[in-house]
Amino acid sequence: MVGFEIINRKNLAEGIVEMDVHAPRVACSARPGQFVIVMACEECERIPLTLVDWSCREGWIRLVFQEVGVSTYKLGMMDVGERLYHVAGPIGNPTHIDKFGTVAIVAGGVAIAAAYPIARAFKEAGNIVVSFIGARNSRLLIYRDRIAKISDEVHISTDDGSEGFKGFVTQLLEKRLVDGFKPGLVWVVGPAPMMRSCSTVTKRFGVKTIASLNPIMVCGMGMCGACRVRIKNEIRFTCVDGPEFDAWDVDWDELIQRLSAYREEESYALKLFLESRKTKVGR
Ligand code: NAD
Repeated sequence: MVGFEIINRKNLAEGIVEMDVHAPRVACSARPGQFVIVMACEECERIPLTLVDWSCREGWIRLVFQEVGVSTYKLGMMDVGERLYHVAGPIGNPTHIDKFGTVAIVAGGVAIAAAYPIARAFKEAGNIVVSFIGARNSRLLIYRDRIAKISDEVHISTDDGSEGFKGFVTQLLEKRLVDGFKPGLVWVVGPAPMMRSCSTVTKRFGVKTIASLNPIMVCGMGMCGACRVRIKNEIRFTCVDGPEFDAWDVDWDELIQRLSAYREEESYALKLFLESRKTKVGR
């Protein structure tokens, strides 16, 4: 049968979906830090999604995504038993897992799920894992329990103060660094402005920092160039050279500017899509 069957689907928070997909070949070669490119239907866009978990024995991979545009809305509308048109992967270089002593994992919003396999791998490699997770409010703090299970310490922030430290997760990290916290490595994932801010903070304290980048991506094979980023003033493709880079080397301003290049078109397409859904429901 064509396609990849959805075998589990769960809403983790409003607009955030966790989906398990039958994809045995991907599951058996997946490593922490890698991602897949998903097509919900034949004419659907290709969406890069980080591998959050997988089981080679049972043949599934786990994806977590936020419904923010037409493609992720379409994906979120699919249910158990339906089949994704295509799943390509695993793509990208795995995270360099080594012994650093203490590793600080810094993650924001829906990307907290993407940090989970990395935190687990650093823990399994014998590091002390101190996780910093932040979201706009407590309802959006996904994967809190799973991160807690594999971390030695978890520090929580919310923008509105509904749980933990009131403010950005990068401010929480900075506070700990000021207090004398000295990790051997910081590994960060989340919105690009958050990763830029994390990079600025860790540079000040001289703590090596690896960031998992999230540019617009199309082919995932290093051919189209959509995911190009400037690293130490040289062009790199996130799909084949990344997705992780030394955070201090990333041209964050250019990445942030490129991420918003199609914002108008994206919101227009979403408006049309949501209106067409309403019309269909109203019929
Ligand atoms: P969000 O805007 O709700 O922000 C989450 C948290 O990040 C905030 O609570 C705050 O603590 C911090 N933050 C946000 N803006 C900041 C700033 N300017 N300075 C410092 N800290 C800031 O996040 P969201 O809407 O859930 O989006 C998550 C992002 O993660 C998306 O941009 C997505 O593309 C990215 N992502 C990346 C990967 C990856 O593998 N690289 C995987 C999944 C998601």
